[in-house]
Amino acid sequence: MSYRMLIDGALVDATATDDVINPATAEPFEKCPRATAEQVDQAVAAAVRAFPAWRKDEAARRRVLNECATAMQARATDLGTLLSQEQGKSLEQAIGEVFGASMWFAGYAAMDTAPEILQDDDDKRIQVIRKPLGAVAAITPWNYPIILLIFKLAPALLAGNTVVAKPSPFTPLSTLLLGEILKDIVPAGVLNMVTGGAHVGAALTEHPDIRKISFTGGIPTGKRVMESAASDLKRVTLELGGNDPAIVLEDANPADVAEGIFWAAFQNSGQLCMAIKRLYVPENLHDPLVEALAEQCRSVKVGGGLEEGTQLGPLNNKAQFDTVRRMVDDAVKDGASVAVGGEPLSRPGYFYPPTLVTKARGGMELVDEEQFGTALPVIRYRNLDDAVRQANDSHYGLSASVWTSDVARGEAIAREIDAGTTWVNQHFDVNPLAPMGGFRWSGIGRENGRWGYEGFTEVQVLSTKK
Ligand code: NAD
Repeated sequence: MSYRMLIDGALVDATATDDVINPATAEPFEKCPRATAEQVDQAVAAAVRAFPAWRKDEAARRRVLNECATAMQARATDLGTLLSQEQGKSLEQAIGEVFGASMWFAGYAAMDTAPEILQDDDDKRIQVIRKPLGAVAAITPWNYPIILLIFKLAPALLAGNTVVAKPSPFTPLSTLLLGEILKDIVPAGVLNMVTGGAHVGAALTEHPDIRKISFTGGIPTGKRVMESAASDLKRVTLELGGNDPAIVLEDANPADVAEGIFWAAFQNSGQLCMAIKRLYVPENLHDPLVEALAEQCRSVKVGGGLEEGTQLGPLNNKAQFDTVRRMVDDAVKDGASVAVGGEPLSRPGYFYPPTLVTKARGGMELVDEEQFGTALPVIRYRNLDDAVRQANDSHYGLSASVWTSDVARGEAIAREIDAGTTWVNQHFDVNPLAPMGGFRWSGIGRENGRWGYEGFTEVQVLSTKK
């Protein structure tokens, strides 16, 4: 099958292609078009042309969003299979991602966008109106290629913007298949999809006709995106990396919390912006909790995404595999111990089993930076204030969690942590109505809920003297 880009309502090829690698084999399994600069220009021009008609009819936009949700659900198995092949996650999780994403289309289709009324009396009516921005760029990473794209498309389209989307070159095919599925639902030019790497991303972010960049990816790229937005003051939303701390309080029961912590750290093989990436454990619970987590690590089935029973797939690409491996090896050289895992599986593909690293501490890269993979450092603490200080001592600030049998105390500690989301006795519970985004270098702006919608709008005050 050949995958094509969506430009101005037509599926188009490119003269050059890039290999897409199956992470379960480390072998190329498909080709993906590499957009030329002219094709990026054509996609932006189509989005600009489509904008005036698309912005006019909100009821029609809501209908389109609902149709998008239905069409995605009808093709969830095809989309999920391709997503599993190119990303590495299990088929079940890939199909779940597609269904979850479709709910964002349906949810935004039903969102109340009525103007806010600030004053309405005999003298005046003052309303706050939300207006679309124009042609916007949606740039996405490789860990959740479908749902992270829909986090952008659904509110952008509801608000009346037109979109040029660019997926990661590691996972472009599911986005292209989605383009094919939505082609006859969304009017020509309203949604365009171009593929390629950094050059294509940069061509989009520098394009003078793009009015907003909604970007999800790494911090270094996010900074480059912001620089390229500066010259013509494009709006930006940046959803960037995380290094989420989880703090276990000394009153927690290891048997109760181990499974939740395990899945929050290792879901999607740890390739999750909001995964637990450092675990702070009090002295009294250290050994039983490490043992309970190690048991989870040993019992989980690691395998190819399409293999029967797989719970954790491979890492997505060689660079990520090498990063995780290096961070664990360096931590061990620096005095840490591996409680379980610590060596790649001896099979083709980027398989690194769930790994627990004890005797970890600040100063190790595995603790201070984002590993984005199947390795969790465990840091002992004696003093809770000091654990909270360490949790906050970071340029990341995406999310965090506190684990305890005393919920009120958990909430009090959670409030002390500087992060866009803080959870108690759970982690990574993303709600479509709740704003998602980070403090500090983890991002700018918020996605989801009304905040996600507002991010794709300008505010206009309409003030009428009666
Ligand atoms: P990345 O920054 O390497 O790439 C992200 C996207 O940007 C890709 O589509 C890439 O092709 C494109 N790109 C690269 N250079 C560009 C440039 N100069 N201009 C414009 N676009 C460019 O990130 P990644 O490795 O694909 O994803 C992993 C990162 O994403 C992790 O740090 C993870 O935490 C983060 N992430 C954040 C969230 C969140 O919501 N905060 C969600 C998922 C992933």
